[in-house]
Amino acid sequence: MNKIWITVITGFLGSGKTTLLNTLLKHPEMNQAAVIVNEFGEIGIDYDLVERSDENIVQLANGCLCCSVKGDLIDTFRDLYIQRNAGTIPYFDRVVIETTGIADPAPVLQIIFTNPMVMNHYSLDGVVTTVDVINGVSSLERFPECVKQAAIADRLILTKSDLVEVADHGEKVKDLSDRLRALNPAAPIVVRNTGDVDPGDLFGTGMFNPETKKIDFNSWLNPQKYLSETTENPFNANEADSEATISYYKDRGHTPEDRRGNDNHHHNPLIKTFCIVRDEPMSLEMLRMFLEGLSNEAGPDLLRVKGIVNIENEPERPAIIQGAQQIFHSLEFMDRWPSEDHRTRIVFITHNIDKKYIEDTMSLIERVAERTVAAAM
Ligand SMILES: [Zn+2]
Repeated sequence: MNKIWITVITGFLGSGKTTLLNTLLKHPEMNQAAVIVNEFGEIGIDYDLVERSDENIVQLANGCLCCSVKGDLIDTFRDLYIQRNAGTIPYFDRVVIETTGIADPAPVLQIIFTNPMVMNHYSLDGVVTTVDVINGVSSLERFPECVKQAAIADRLILTKSDLVEVADHGEKVKDLSDRLRALNPAAPIVVRNTGDVDPGDLFGTGMFNPETKKIDFNSWLNPQKYLSETTENPFNANEADSEATISYYKDRGHTPEDRRGNDNHHHNPLIKTFCIVRDEPMSLEMLRMFLEGLSNEAGPDLLRVKGIVNIENEPERPAIIQGAQQIFHSLEFMDRWPSEDHRTRIVFITHNIDKKYIEDTMSLIERVAERTVAAAM
């Protein structure tokens, strides 16, 4: 695959996301990365620190990427690609996107997974989420976006480790790590002091292994981490959004649909994480109906879905599916199974959708698909 790999950096305000990016931009390995920064209402790139040409650093300052300026993100992907190929900006083979602290990462992933232009030229490497050791727990308890950012991450970076009192250090890091582990069982958690990061923290965190230049199944899906049972959000959400919280969002250009009305849909963030396993292969038709059905019925609540599927008639090659909010059935196939285990395994990270609902949907679709096939014969 010669696609341009995308890393999405999320993390709440004050979690050290911008410091991390500023530090990384000084590394020579970052010269082949274009950077998209959404810095509405926040302090962005510190150009005094960055000793590089800024032609492929794009700042989107008109609103929030997850809701008000989605179209700007698509335009930016297109412009960067065209300019790269025309040689009017330095060549890059990666893009790093820094979202605002308050952004919900799922709509950003949805663009990456479903926009045809973006899908043609780019592919998601992974989502890296920063959580600071000092204020992480309180942010996670106050802001549902924070919980989503941590739940869908491929890697969690605990920042500001150096700023914790030595006496409290072990306990603080352990408490935060344990709770994050309950929320997100598979993402590696790394602990970093301020300024102590390197590009390896950002790259190859998900699907793509930069060393072998191949799909790294275990780091990407890691299904055995999800097999035991459903995990749920261990951070107690507090009551509905206060006026202060709502204006806080507005100041940051973040105006998602479901916050404009009265419903508290996304408030208590009941994030659930589980893995669906299926022994028998499924037909392409069944998979297509399953993904369409799920996208229609539960789209906004599917924060992230990823998996490999054993397709009838393709016993040697597993199909890869991934999505957020919407899952397309344009399939990619791996050259071969990554292990002896040829079962279909699909990891779901959802907002309040449980495993049983997905399993019931799958068996319903299976019966419908069988009937459709029988009727066509
Ligand atoms: Zn937003």
